[in-house]
Amino acid sequence: MPIYEYYCPECKEKFEKLCRLSQADEAAECPKCKTSSKRVLSKCASFSKDSSGATTSVAGGGGCSSCGSSSCTSCHN
Ligand SMILES: [Zn+2]
Repeated sequence: MPIYEYYCPECKEKFEKLCRLSQADEAAECPKCKTSSKRVLSKCASFSKDSSGATTSVAGGGGCSSCGSSSCTSCHN
């Protein structure tokens, strides 16, 4: 299953979730505060897992700092 990235407006943090394709456009609950969170277009960030399998270090860093707030719509990488 693909991993999708979501952004919680309450925590101001991204989180990732495994989803079926049919769920890709649905909101996901934040694991911390249960706020309904929109999916972030993550083509420039979310799939850069490191060798340990960690994914959290990608959000807010890496090659996409220009669009880390809520979406990557302005980022064409
Ligand atoms: Zn939250």
